[in-house]
Order: sequence, then structure tokens, then C-alpha cells
Amino acid sequence: MIYNIAIDGPAGAGKSTIAKRVAKELSFIYVDTGAMYRAMAYYLLTQKVSGSDPEEIASACQGAEISIEYRNGEQIVLLNGENVNAFLRTEEVGNMASVSSANPSVRARLLDLQRNLAKVQSVVMDGRDIGTTILPDADVKIFLTASAATRAKRRYKELTERGEACDLAEIQKDIEERDQRDMNREISPLRQAEDAELVDSSEMTIDQVAAEILRIFQEKTAKK
Ligand code: C5P
Repeated sequence: MIYNIAIDGPAGAGKSTIAKRVAKELSFIYVDTGAMYRAMAYYLLTQKVSGSDPEEIASACQGAEISIEYRNGEQIVLLNGENVNAFLRTEEVGNMASVSSANPSVRARLLDLQRNLAKVQSVVMDGRDIGTTILPDADVKIFLTASAATRAKRRYKELTERGEACDLAEIQKDIEERDQRDMNREISPLRQAEDAELVDSSEMTIDQVAAEILRIFQEKTAKK
């Protein structure tokens, strides 16, 4: 039996931490679709493509071949055959990803890759449009959110722990801008699917959120 769990939500809601935890618990594969958009953004940055010209993005993204491999359970994103994981988690790449992911050509290049991964194995896939567009028939759909202030604080902690200098107010502003872009774009905007369960993690620990999603999974699949 193949199961698909879709987890969508805004930047910094804890999707990847939670999705990884749930995947491990169920021995499913964790698919991080944000990393694919980030790899595309990284490619566009290396090609000196400006975020403000949609036609330039549409044409340049054709030069990026993105694929995924799993090594010791970790998702490796290959950009034109090269492992680019180490370059994906910067604010510059995140901001470019939020701009370039609104481009229909960019989304079209990543759609089949994501759907095919879920077709052949049980996955926990996180992103923005997994429950609405990529896996509309997913067994479980979660919309994971938290207040912008909570998300900014989490991101600040993560960056400071990595030794990166940053400013909390600026991070919150970036997060709010990214939310606006993700929710208001024409193609695949970030929104809660009608049949998704809303989980607000503002006042919850990682363990509590993971337990809640596992409970929802057991409940939904017991009925099948
Ligand atoms: O989740 P993460 O912050 O890594 O995603 C980076 C950007 O990629 C997001 O701001 C969003 O604009 C875009 N994205 C998307 N659709 C997805 C996953 C990510 O548009 N399924």
C-alpha cells in the first residue's frame, strides 16, 4: 500500500522538521519540494537572472535539470548532475525562490518530478501546493501554520545557532513579504485545501505537532 501525506504552509511554520519526523516514524520518504524551488533559484542566481523579468526566468529555467537522490535517508538535490544541497538554505536563495516559484515555467519543470516521487513510494511531501495541486488525492493533508512572530523567532534562532548575523525585525518583514507573494500569486497560491486539517504550531512543541499528524494519519487510514 502506498500512502501520501501532504504538508503545506507558510515559510517557517516547521514543515520540514515535522515532515522529516513523521516520515521517519512511518518509514516513508520525506520529499522537500522547497529545496527543488531553491535549487532552481540558485541556478537562476548563478546565471545572473534578475527576479523582476518573468520572460528571462521562463527562458533561463529551461537550462536547469533538477533531480533527486536519497543518500542515507537524506534528500540530495542534483542540479545538472551536481549536488547543490550546501547552497540552498541562504536568505538570498530563499527570497529568489519565492519570486521565481511564481513563474509558470518554473513550476511546470518541477511538477512531474514531485508527482512521480509520490507515485512509486509512500511519502511525506511538504511545500505550498501539495494538497491543492501536486497530490490532490493525498491520504492526509495538513495545513501547518504559526503566527508570523513565532515563525520569525524560530528562523532567527536557527540562523544565530548557525553563526549567521541577522536581525529579528528584518526576518519577520521578509517572512511577511514571502507569505504575501506565496498567497497572492496566480499559479498554485499557498492556501489550505478544503479537505486539509489545520494545525497551528504557535503554542506547540515539535513532538506535539508530530504526534497530532500521526494521530490524523492513523484516524484517516484506519477508515480505508
Ligand atoms: O519551503 P521553502 O522555504 O524551502 O521554499 C522556498 C520557496 O519556494 C517558498 O517561499 C515558495 O515560494 C516556494 N515553494 C513553492 N511551492 C512549493 C515549495 C516551495 O512555491 N511546493
